[in-house]
Amino acid sequence: MSDKDFPDDLFDKALDALDETSKEPIKTEGIKAIPELLERGYYDKAVDIMIKIIEDPDPYSINDKIAVTDIAHQVAQQDANIIRRLLPYLYVIYNKTEAYLTRAAPDPVLIMNTANVLTHAKSVLYDEIARLKQLIIDVANQISNEYKTNNIPLGDVAPRVGLSLVVVLLLVDEMLLNKEVRGHYDSVGDILTLESDKARCYNCGAEFPKDLEKCPSCGIEFPKCVICRLIIRTIPVTCPKCGNSAHREHMLEWLKMSHDKKKGKGMCPICQNYLAPEDLK
Ligand SMILES: [Zn+2]
Ligand SMILES: [Zn+2]
Ligand SMILES: [Zn+2]
Repeated sequence: MSDKDFPDDLFDKALDALDETSKEPIKTEGIKAIPELLERGYYDKAVDIMIKIIEDPDPYSINDKIAVTDIAHQVAQQDANIIRRLLPYLYVIYNKTEAYLTRAAPDPVLIMNTANVLTHAKSVLYDEIARLKQLIIDVANQISNEYKTNNIPLGDVAPRVGLSLVVVLLLVDEMLLNKEVRGHYDSVGDILTLESDKARCYNCGAEFPKDLEKCPSCGIEFPKCVICRLIIRTIPVTCPKCGNSAHREHMLEWLKMSHDKKKGKGMCPICQNYLAPEDLK
């Protein structure tokens, strides 16, 4: 179908369902346009709007969300592939309702409807979830190579996989739980830290087998931590008095343990000079 045939008015009408200025419980006219778009074969446009409504943070939109799941249920019974892109968003509602709908109370009708859609779309759903998980892993590795770090901001992954952050967070959470990916997640900054068999030089960013004591790329020698005796792969902290290095967290812990109240500082484990955390280089 050419662009000329595209029913802009119908699309606009469907988008009216998202109009935040009208707070009536069901924006019936806008919602009605969605099945009409589907019927006329504009699946992508229709699913776009369905995703927008499902993601709408407006608490008044709960009835619109229910209406969307009603439409999705009908579609899922015929051909779930049409609403494939909507399924991960419903999957989040089903698995993480409260976190997802923080501004709207978890609604039993919405959850029941969502469960119905997911049951009917089961085969497409698991297929799609598996595909998206693999895509997230691929993009995370891509970003790891680009940024030269194993700490991947999931906020940067989301747009590249074409999903919202909340969906990415759920899928990553599942992958970590099922050990489909090795690493850990830090909610501060939504960082996924990938565990790898390789180490990365803090100086030049090159990747190499974990047990090397010297970077094969820039030649920097990795210092040993004076506290745990292991090679330091992260940026080390150095005592300004004796020049010995340690893992940051180990040195901070040591300074805390050896804290002298009168001096207000802790003691370097090697030269025994008193240091404040901000004295460390
Ligand atoms: Zn290097
Ligand atoms: Zn250490
Ligand atoms: Zn020292």
